[in-house]
Amino acid sequence: MTETGFELKAQDGKARTGLLRTPRGDIRTPAFMPVGTAATVKGMLPESVRETGADILLGNTYHLMLRPGAERIARLGGLHQFMNWQRPILTDSGGFQVMSLADLRKLTEEGVTFRSHVDGSKHHLTPEHSMEIQRLLGSDIVMAFDECPALPADRARIEESMRLSMRWALRSREAFGDRPGHMLFGIQQGGLERDLREESARALRDIGFEGYAVGGLAVGEGQEAMFSCLDYAPDMLPEDKPRYLMGVGKPDDIVGAVKRGIDLMDCVLPSRSGRTGQAWTRRGQVNIKNARHADDPRPLDEDCGCPACRSYSRAYLHHVFRSGEMISGMLLTWHNLHYYQELMAGLRTAIFEGTFESFEAAFHEARAERDIPRL
Ligand SMILES: [Zn+2]
Repeated sequence: MTETGFELKAQDGKARTGLLRTPRGDIRTPAFMPVGTAATVKGMLPESVRETGADILLGNTYHLMLRPGAERIARLGGLHQFMNWQRPILTDSGGFQVMSLADLRKLTEEGVTFRSHVDGSKHHLTPEHSMEIQRLLGSDIVMAFDECPALPADRARIEESMRLSMRWALRSREAFGDRPGHMLFGIQQGGLERDLREESARALRDIGFEGYAVGGLAVGEGQEAMFSCLDYAPDMLPEDKPRYLMGVGKPDDIVGAVKRGIDLMDCVLPSRSGRTGQAWTRRGQVNIKNARHADDPRPLDEDCGCPACRSYSRAYLHHVFRSGEMISGMLLTWHNLHYYQELMAGLRTAIFEGTFESFEAAFHEARAERDIPRL
């Protein structure tokens, strides 16, 4: 079995670049993980996702346990085999989506009972069960089972929830057991309360994990509040382990998070936007639905090497979106994932070369120019 581990290669300010090694391949950090919720990154073949530069995908435990079921995926050779993605996969614990999607949730010290949003069936999810499901899926990076309170929440609720999550983190660690080649990440909670973040980080460090996530952000608090929390929260986590910011984000969120010491991120945004006619480019957001594109023979971004920009005009992308053609979501998702991965590659190079500051300035400058003028 190849060794797993995190190797820091360079640091520029707080921004870090390195390699997270797994038996299924190395993950170049900072890394962006496309989300393959139901064992697919919607609209993309796995080989196309790889072509955009992704080293790792995220799978959602909640969705997969309900449909098609973790036992079935295990019988069919595990998630990598099932979805034809042989590189690393990180799975979330299911906790967050139980909170946001399931019906009739009941939270106890033991775990969560809920009804499936798919067919109303009743399920029970505990730290032990979440570890078992993620083992059945064959996930390379397993997330500890935690609870993230819905916002707005008062301090007492955040404190109580964080302490429950830390007890669940310990149970997750014990249930995970000894699994060479696989990693377990703990999740820091504590909302925007600095002392609770510190208490949570201390609890996690005492248990010991192969990586640490900053949880409970990107849940509607806004970028300014998120960045103020990221000004201190990642520093509380071990320096020699990867730090993962869950559910982030927009391109400018990503640059700001990397600047503050984050190594891994995931978000549905590039793929979801691709299906709603939104493109992310170095000059900001482009709404392909807009009538201004109807006669525009120019590519979405003339400097982009993705298939959507290489071979199609804005007029075509506009037309297929308006006509509800499947290729619309496929091409825009490809472009968005390509743009995100190019941004990550740019960040890694800049950190390695010690030019993060000028990279960041150029990034914001290009966005400030906004989309190319209409014809
Ligand atoms: Zn493109």
